[in-house]
Amino acid sequence: MAIAESGVVETPQIRQTGILVGDEFRSSVSGKTFATVNPATEEVICEVAEGDAEDIDLAVHAARQAFDSGPWSRMDARDRGLLLIRLADLLEANFDELTALETLDNGKPIADARAADLPLVIDCLRYYGGWADKIQGQTIPIRGDNFCYTRREPVGVCGQIIPWNFPMLMVAWKWGPALAAGNTIVMKPAEQTPLTCLRMAELALEAGFPPGVINVVPGYGPTAGAALVRHPLVDKIAFTGEGTTAQIIMAEAAKTLKRVTFELGGKSPNIVFADADLDAAAAGAEFGLFFNQGQCCCAGSRLFVEESVHDEFVERVVVQAKQRRLGNPFDRNTSQGPQVDKAQFDKILGYIARGNEQGASCLTGGARHGDKGYFVEPTVFTDVRDDMDIAQDEIFGPVMSILKFNDEAEVLQRANNTRYGLAAAVWTGDVGRAHRLAHDLRAGTVWINCYDVFDAAAPFGGYKMSGLGRELGEAGLANYTELKTVTMPLGRS
Ligand code: ADP
Repeated sequence: MAIAESGVVETPQIRQTGILVGDEFRSSVSGKTFATVNPATEEVICEVAEGDAEDIDLAVHAARQAFDSGPWSRMDARDRGLLLIRLADLLEANFDELTALETLDNGKPIADARAADLPLVIDCLRYYGGWADKIQGQTIPIRGDNFCYTRREPVGVCGQIIPWNFPMLMVAWKWGPALAAGNTIVMKPAEQTPLTCLRMAELALEAGFPPGVINVVPGYGPTAGAALVRHPLVDKIAFTGEGTTAQIIMAEAAKTLKRVTFELGGKSPNIVFADADLDAAAAGAEFGLFFNQGQCCCAGSRLFVEESVHDEFVERVVVQAKQRRLGNPFDRNTSQGPQVDKAQFDKILGYIARGNEQGASCLTGGARHGDKGYFVEPTVFTDVRDDMDIAQDEIFGPVMSILKFNDEAEVLQRANNTRYGLAAAVWTGDVGRAHRLAHDLRAGTVWINCYDVFDAAAPFGGYKMSGLGRELGEAGLANYTELKTVTMPLGRS
């Protein structure tokens, strides 16, 4: 797919809109479909098969059979890894199509899809492809004349439920470790963004994954998602989304004692001290909040700035916010696209209204951009108090809340005073302070003098109500294995 001289990328063809069970893309049992919408234009892109409990049941049985008795269960670990690497190669070969499809369905700027999303996806699958034959047990010197060892075995059939903010990347974070460890999958993509997941699944079949190893059931959360969580033949649920949804899932999963891992929301503190490199910190503040239209679980949405540089810093971030280029996400010069759907758009405008009502000062933005598509102006609030809604709740939009602080102890206490604990960042020239805070901040990730640095090898996940378990890295694999202990007397007299 060529990038025209104008810098505008062509819209892609839609290839798959069905439910993948085994090696077949099919209609839903009910025959129902749902529309997926282009958030930049509010126009329907296409209809997609709407899965429900019966489709989930078929997909789970396909996954169960592939796990229990298919070629996958006997495949050499190294060959499993090679399949992941082959899938990564196929994604790379279809780079233009996949990134354009992501932009069409999600609204994110094509420049971001090309620079961040798909490269991270490819890297993640290659990384976990390398792990497949390195998942090892131990020999353990127990008492007596015994040989004791452990095996790391796959958990089984994994139900994976993902959100719409990084559709392809969430697929890679879920498939990579699950497949490296030898599990089989039933995935439910978000109803807002099913298209790239379906295309990735088609490419996985082309790569040579046996039928039933990867199944994909598009549909809604309370129907298809809930059926997956309930299903007795599913061994584990991996979920990324809202905390309130995770609570429903955990309660339901308790009935069958499924393993659960969660990657949830955040209200991450981004802390700027006066001794920081303020140019870098301002750039990090902008990227940490506005990247992906603010639709990041780890967005630096509480920006704490030390009092002595507060006003100067605010000026910088306001200038940056005003310079952001909103518009057609297929234009590679666009830096901000629309929010994913009307519900998110309305929710964000509601928070902006509450910020104004509760006494924060809106220095720029604060309104819809244009009259078509779910665009929200980059918005900066100052005079934000810790108890305001815009300082407490996850907004998931381009709304920056700036809070003033005076010293390290105070900002640490305020930064930790939240039900969330996903990420945090510290900007300072004082190495001791950087690591003091890195130790004391209650968050799964702490960035020092940077923001949003992700790598497939670096674990990611939340403290407190931001999650359970870790994704990525070796830690991400652990959540997809069961540990088995084998003991045998050696029979020496
Ligand atoms: P978001 O606000 O990011 O859409 P959600 O938690 O609502 O967050 O959705 C994340 C994913 O969880 C989506 O795929 C959605 O369909 C799914 N989901 C929503 N409700 C449920 C539920 N009750 N059971 C299982 N999955 C659900």
